[in-house]
Amino acid sequence: MMPRGLWILGLAAAFVVGCGSNNPDSTAGQTAHTEEPAAPRSVILIIGDGMGPQQLGLLLDWAAAADRAPTALERLMNSGTTGYIRTASIDSPATDSAAAATAIACGVAEKNQVVAMTQDGRPIPTAMEDAIASGRKTGLVTTTRVTHATPACFITHIDHRDKEEEIAVQIVDSKVDLILGGGAQYFLSQRQNLRDQIAKRGWRLVEDMETLGEVQNTDRVLGLFAKSHLPYVLDRDQPGEETAPTLAELTEKALQHLGPSSTGFFLMIEGGRIDHAAHANDVAGILGEMREFDDAVAVAMDYQRKNPSTLLLLTADHETGGLCVTYGDGDDVLTDEHILAMTRAKNSVEIAIEKNELKLGPLDPSVFGVGRTKFYSPAYYASNYTGLKESAKYKVSFGTGNHSTTPVPVIARGPGATLFGGLHRNTWIGQHLRKWMQRPVKPGG
Ligand SMILES: [Zn+2]
Repeated sequence: MMPRGLWILGLAAAFVVGCGSNNPDSTAGQTAHTEEPAAPRSVILIIGDGMGPQQLGLLLDWAAAADRAPTALERLMNSGTTGYIRTASIDSPATDSAAAATAIACGVAEKNQVVAMTQDGRPIPTAMEDAIASGRKTGLVTTTRVTHATPACFITHIDHRDKEEEIAVQIVDSKVDLILGGGAQYFLSQRQNLRDQIAKRGWRLVEDMETLGEVQNTDRVLGLFAKSHLPYVLDRDQPGEETAPTLAELTEKALQHLGPSSTGFFLMIEGGRIDHAAHANDVAGILGEMREFDDAVAVAMDYQRKNPSTLLLLTADHETGGLCVTYGDGDDVLTDEHILAMTRAKNSVEIAIEKNELKLGPLDPSVFGVGRTKFYSPAYYASNYTGLKESAKYKVSFGTGNHSTTPVPVIARGPGATLFGGLHRNTWIGQHLRKWMQRPVKPGG
């Protein structure tokens, strides 16, 4: 449970960044739009996993402090339509990534942990399957394992997200044109080696960026660039991780591969590790992932500007961490220097702990000055006023090591964008994606 004070701060942040909405009636729901805007022929859907308003706020704070404003996200908000999304699943106001991605991919609210499947075990059709059926090209790009909950919900159906070996088999059997991310362990390990099936089903298997550069647009590509997730941005200097692609590079390649084409396409791009850094209460990690996410948004925006019949739709599945960047304590007020210090973190908290550079205890002094914040247990924040005071001292606090119910932004530019102004449930996105992806592609449209 997030302490009330943090919740209010989080919501205030939500409204500050939400003021770009061009919908004058912020309570406008699913019934308020009578005139249907033009339908997009192609859709680039970008999901920031765990990206709530404060994660976005942190990126904006950094851009201002580093003289790098405006960010791509800021430009997208100011040139498109901005709204807010409620993320509850059927069984909790706090969703997990599987229920959230099922809502976004299928337009249906379901239970946490379940991948595009009804409670009685029937598969729920997804917008990506619709896109395949209507003759569009399709792609999934992520910084997580490609078998992870968010990408899985677009093309596989299973009763629990943790069954990643089965998800891998379903992915190989799918008709997606391009899949790029991590997760080789479920495709190419001793435990499960699908190399033969991958070849038999017509995929071109790619394991490094050089080979990805050689693929033809007619190839169906399965690109697996890490055993598990792609490394955190902060950990790209770790042995063996130096050649890991960035999300922007993968986005650029995916857009070259899928469009512009006569068929139209549906591409889902996920910045999947914002969530992981937030679970680890690693503020420098979050900022690193947000900066890379923003670079990918810039690539997608550039494509959308040149191809205006494409809808660029960006959202998050939920907020993670109950992140709060605070005023500070007493005279020790937050400054740009504190924000810039976060960029000097050498590694993620995960690797720092592995290297024994960061020792964690409930009342350890912060190492925020070198860019890492304290890792307190969630119970400490939730129950202890001293905890809040302490966290204010360190200018960053986390309400939880898990997800929160904070509404998340939705930002859209292109045909259909105005539908996303105002406040909606996450199913609103999936319902429109399904409707649009079922439409036949009009030549030249
Ligand atoms: Zn999560």
